[in-house]
Amino acid sequence: MAKSHLRRLGNIWLGTERAQRLRLRQTSLAMALMGLCVPMLHYAVGVAHGEHGLLLWAWTIVSLGGMAVIYAAIRSGWSRRFDDPSLTSVQIAFAIGAGALGYAQAGPLRGAVFPVLTLILMFGMFQLRARNAYGLCLFALTLFGAVMGVMAWQRPAVYPPEVEVGHFLMLACMLPAVATLTARLSRIRRRLADQREELARALAQLQAIATRDELTCLPNRRQMQALMDQELLRSLRHHHDFCIAIADLDHFKHVNDEHGHAAGDTVLRAFAQTGQAAMRATDVLARWGGEEFLVLLPDTAMPPALGGMERLRQQIAAMRVDVGGGAPVAITVSIGLTGHRRGDTLAQTLERADQLLYRAKAEGRNRTCADPG
Ligand code: GH3
Ligand code: MG
Ligand code: MG
Repeated sequence: MAKSHLRRLGNIWLGTERAQRLRLRQTSLAMALMGLCVPMLHYAVGVAHGEHGLLLWAWTIVSLGGMAVIYAAIRSGWSRRFDDPSLTSVQIAFAIGAGALGYAQAGPLRGAVFPVLTLILMFGMFQLRARNAYGLCLFALTLFGAVMGVMAWQRPAVYPPEVEVGHFLMLACMLPAVATLTARLSRIRRRLADQREELARALAQLQAIATRDELTCLPNRRQMQALMDQELLRSLRHHHDFCIAIADLDHFKHVNDEHGHAAGDTVLRAFAQTGQAAMRATDVLARWGGEEFLVLLPDTAMPPALGGMERLRQQIAAMRVDVGGGAPVAITVSIGLTGHRRGDTLAQTLERADQLLYRAKAEGRNRTCADPG
């Protein structure tokens, strides 16, 4: 119960979208850090002056208010218009500004600002580009240098110039070191992102190789087997029919012998293209091997299936393939078509389609032989 309340509160504070939650988590952490710095500075000012002046309260309101504005800009989705919707650079620059003004008020305890400043810059390690990291480092050095100079000039008793020079030199060593680390992390992140992209591309390529026939771009035998297995399961569950046809190009050997193997390949590609266009979008044409193709007609009974296969056969017979040089090549196809019978295995259905194809060849080719249904 308490857990679900917590989750609901979390959803209100962070939203439900993953990327947005990540951004707001990071901002919440920065807000918590700012929240901790407030009593720390109040303590430091108390030690230095024994009283809390107007300046300190103004600093408190602006610092906390600024973080609240940044949170609202991200939570409302307004920051999505920028390259970095986390507003990382803005948050860090704002915190550096608050740190520098805190340094001016902290008096003898101002040394506590240095680790906080380093921590602020470390927030950039998750997000910042190398260039931004160096830019923010330069901004922090300039701002702190200016504050140290002004304080040493205005209140040399509390901010002795020789101490401020020492402080500045320390910052001038530490901040570039943090920026360098951030830059290295940024490069590692970029390399990882590139590698991930490359892997995804390779995976997509492998998937295409594993499921597609290279010559015709049709589903290959393995993919067709998987599709037929799926269709068999579907037909068992929903009690619908499906048909399978084997289409074999007629006297294809002649095409190779007369026009060459490359011309044969062109004819196979043309068959795939015309064949696919002739069929319904839900029917699947696959290369089964050589000049033999398989057609899966899902959720289809015999009469419409026969109509579909006849349309395919006629369009192939009407097709003329330009094989580069000489007259265009004409080709015909013989088809064995059968409906899957409940209780049969796929192998039995395929065997029946093969028998029907054999009959179509024997009866003179360029025809469809089908089960009575
Ligand atoms: P039928 O009408 O009895 O089917 O005669 P056919 O000549 O089509 O049959 P056969 O099985 O005798 O020959 C098939 C030919 O298909 C032989 C083979 O070289 C050719 N073939 C198979 N795969 C490819 C291919 O990928 N590209 C090319 N160009 N030819 C192929
Ligand atoms: Mg053939
Ligand atoms: Mg053959």
